[in-house]
Amino acid sequence: MCLGRVDRGVGCSVVGCVNNASHSLSVKEVLNALSKLGLKLSSDSARRVYLCEEHYKAVKKVLRKERMYERWRFR
Ligand SMILES: [Zn+2]
Repeated sequence: MCLGRVDRGVGCSVVGCVNNASHSLSVKEVLNALSKLGLKLSSDSARRVYLCEEHYKAVKKVLRKERMYERWRFR
């Protein structure tokens, strides 16, 4: 789900986070996960979200859990 590496100097899109972003993802993918983590994006209009290593890992964990639930539901 990672759309690629991020240019140097791009900051993490999470409000209050000052880390440099290392991953860029689509808003659609991460918005739900971020709200579950209690995190907010600094820009609602952006189509691309930039996440630092720390937040990327947290989001990935949530998404992985959701995918597991989905699989169970469809069984
Ligand atoms: Zn961050």
